[in-house]
Amino acid sequence: MADSGTGRSRALLVHRAATVSVVLAAMCACASREPSPQALELSGATMGTSYRVTLPGAQRDAAAIGAAVRQALDRVDALMSTYRADSEVSRLNRHESSEPLSISAETHAVLAAAQEVSSATGGAFDITVGPLVDAWGFGPRETSAPPSAETVRGLMERTGWQKLILDARGPAVRKTVPQLRIDLSAIAKGYAVDLVAESLERMGYRRYLVEVGGEVRAAGTRADGSPWRIGVERPDSAGRSVHRILRLSDTAVATSGNYRNFREADGQRFGHVLDPRTGRPTANRVVSATVLDPSAMRADALATALLVLGETEGIALAERENLAALLLVEGADESLSEFKSPKFRAKMEDESP
Ligand code: FAD
Repeated sequence: MADSGTGRSRALLVHRAATVSVVLAAMCACASREPSPQALELSGATMGTSYRVTLPGAQRDAAAIGAAVRQALDRVDALMSTYRADSEVSRLNRHESSEPLSISAETHAVLAAAQEVSSATGGAFDITVGPLVDAWGFGPRETSAPPSAETVRGLMERTGWQKLILDARGPAVRKTVPQLRIDLSAIAKGYAVDLVAESLERMGYRRYLVEVGGEVRAAGTRADGSPWRIGVERPDSAGRSVHRILRLSDTAVATSGNYRNFREADGQRFGHVLDPRTGRPTANRVVSATVLDPSAMRADALATALLVLGETEGIALAERENLAALLLVEGADESLSEFKSPKFRAKMEDESP
């Protein structure tokens, strides 16, 4: 870890198995490993992670459904990836000016949703953390060492969600600090899930499961008429087991955790979710946050915000905003306790694994 005064820092151990497979592995653990004969199963790679779409009784439309899913995912990647120089977000990040820049309606919708969650969470969710994400080595480029406290202070001046001004006319966006850079990794996968789901709805499907990088949306029921069953994984960086099985119909679920994608230096471990208020990786006892919401995009962003807020502020937000949230909290003795918000309890009879 960098010595705050000198900025000296040591080599880093990097662990980058993202949390995205947490829910995927858990789903495999819960759902039958063999695809159901009465359902169409599509899967593949997207946005540095994987996707999976399951549709009971849709085998005959496989080609049309596959094309619609691919088109939606490729659209989000082309607009919102910070891993592609030609994406709209990369173009916005290179636009070092306070002049307005025209953007697509899709990107404007995601930025507007992000600003809403930033406002509701007191800035715990903040897409302008881009420069900090890169400095801590969780962006497209690896870094050899954590940033010094002085570097973090400097970068903090170039972040802050209120420095991004949206204009629905056009639509356009303006930066009050030209060097502002955005990172949509904590919301755009959820948006991709919603976009795929809307494509399937337009094609007349009302029963499906869509999963992109751990963000999930379940509509209707499985082929046998039972609810979809999604596992929330036990937060254990050394292994994979299911903590809770959630039975879902007609809702989305997102989980954010800091025990899969982390870095270590001088015996200290820090995860890929940053606290925009400090410029540093979260340092609280919440190791996994799960949110249920009709929108996978909102669930995605809120799960990240709850991880940043930690137990006390996270529980207060979940109750104030009436969120359906499950927080897994690690004790000093490495025991695991959970907090289920009233709305989560009302919506979810969960099953122990
Ligand atoms: P979450 O836990 O949901 O969010 C954490 C991520 O959000 C962090 O990694 C950081 O980027 C950002 N973040 C951290 N703190 C905050 C905060 N407080 N508020 C807001 N955001 C925060 N990865 C690749 O390796 N290769 C690719 O080609 C690639 N392409 C991508 C294209 C798109 C369109 C997107 C959205 C992501 C892409 N990624 C790619 C990144 C990858 O898919 C995941 O987004 C990343 O690994 C984090 O996933 P997660 O679910 O663990 O993140």
